[in-house]
This record gives sequence, C-alpha cells and structure tokens, in this order.
Amino acid sequence: MSWDKARTFKWLLLSVAVTVAGTFVLWWFFGGVAFFGFLFLPFVPILFGGGGRDEAVQMQACPECGFESLDPEDRYCPRDGALLR
Ligand SMILES: [Zn+2]
Repeated sequence: MSWDKARTFKWLLLSVAVTVAGTFVLWWFFGGVAFFGFLFLPFVPILFGGGGRDEAVQMQACPECGFESLDPEDRYCPRDGALLR
C-alpha cells in the first residue's frame, strides 16, 4: 500500500515536472520568437524593401569628373559645378 502510494507520488511528481518543463520550454520558445521578432522587426522593411528602394533612388553622376551622388538634392557637381546626370 505504501509502495503504491510512493509510486503514485513519484509519477505525480514526474508529470508535474514534465508539465512545468513543457510550459517553460513553450514559454521560452515563444518568448524567444517574440523577442527576436521585436528585435528584427525594424530591419524587416530594410531587408525586404531594400531592393526596391535602391531602384527608386536615382544615381546621378558628373559627366566631367565621374562624381556620383545618391542625393536627389544634388543637381550640380561640387567639384566642377557641372550638371549631374
Ligand atoms: Zn564633376
């Protein structure tokens, strides 16, 4: 009788331990996913929109000296004043 009780108690402890461990693993896993999701969320537009943004930016180059600018505000070469193309 006492042996059965001890075995039942052992199984109860084991099931509780498995439940706690499973809960912890799930919490850790989804907590990790959420953590990394928040960590990498600001970079997602850069990663997925980088190619399109590069195409949208017009590279301008000076025909005189080869100076290149990605800034659309730059219309003239700062070196020789030639119109950028
Ligand atoms: Zn130039």
